[in-house]
Amino acid sequence: MIVIKVGGSKGIDLDAVCDDVAALVSEGTALVLVHGGSHETNLVAEALGHPPQFVQSPSGHTSRRTDRRTLEIFEMVYCGLVNKGVVERLQRRGVRAIGLSGLDALLWQGPRKAVIRVVENGKTRLLRDDYTGVVERVNTELLQLLLSQGYLPVLTPPAASFEGEAINVDGDRAAAATAVALGADTLVLLSNVPGLLRDFPDEGSLIRHIARVQLEEHMDLAGGRMRKKLLGAQEALNGGLRRVVLADARVAQPVRQALAGRGTVIE
Ligand code: ADP
Repeated sequence: MIVIKVGGSKGIDLDAVCDDVAALVSEGTALVLVHGGSHETNLVAEALGHPPQFVQSPSGHTSRRTDRRTLEIFEMVYCGLVNKGVVERLQRRGVRAIGLSGLDALLWQGPRKAVIRVVENGKTRLLRDDYTGVVERVNTELLQLLLSQGYLPVLTPPAASFEGEAINVDGDRAAAATAVALGADTLVLLSNVPGLLRDFPDEGSLIRHIARVQLEEHMDLAGGRMRKKLLGAQEALNGGLRRVVLADARVAQPVRQALAGRGTVIE
C-alpha cells in the first residue's frame, strides 16, 4: 500500500501525477491519493475579497488563519475545484476514482484547537473562532471498503472535529495518519521542490537520504511548510511505515521517480 500526497503549490503538474497514478493502479498497486490546494485557495480568496491571513504562534510558527469564511472558501477550492479536477483527470485515464473530504463519513477526525495563541505587534492574543486541528482517527473501514471494490480514494482536507465541525488540517500530516492507519509501506509527499534542501532555495543542495534517527537534527533546516512535511514523515515512520519520500511534482513521471528514490528518502 502506497499513500501519495500531492501538494497545492504553484508549479505542480497534476496531469503528470495522474498519469503515473493511473499506470500504477492498472499494474495492481494499492494506493490512496491525498491532495492540497493552497495556491488556488489564495487566488480564489483574493478574488472573493477575503485575502489569506497568516498568524504567528508564540513559538514562531506561521499558520493560516482559518475563520469560518476562510474555511468555506477552503472547502470550495479543495473539495470542489481541485478534488473534482483530480477525479476528472483520473477517470479520463480509466481509474475508478472517488473524491472525498476528511469531513465525509468522518474519514479524518481529531480535536479542534478551541483556542489558539497568536502574536500580533509583540502582544499575545487568543483566537477562539479559528477552525483548525489535527487528524487522530481515520475511518479505515470506509477506505478498505472502497479499495476492495476497486475504487481509488482521492482525499482532501478539511477533516471533522470530534464535535463534527469542519476543521482545516495539514494535508501532509493527514496523509501520514492515513498511511499509518492503512498499514502502508511508503508515503510519497510531492511538492514544488525536489525534496529537503540544505540551503533553500538552492536546488543543488538536495539532501538525498536521511536515516530515521537523524530526522530530528534536520528539522531546523526546514522553514515554513516544509517543516510540516518532516513532521508528517516522522509521524509516518513512528507509525510503522518503511519509508517516506519527499519529491518533485513539477517533473515528468513524478511518482515513479519518487518511488525510484529521486528526492529525499527518509527511512
Ligand atoms: P505543498 O503545498 O506543495 O505541499 P508547501 O508549499 O506546503 O508544499 O511546502 C513546500 C515549500 O516549503 C517549498 O515550496 C519551499 O518554499 C518551502 N521550504 C522551506 N524550507 C525548505 C527546505 N529546506 N527545502 C525545501 N523546501 C523548503
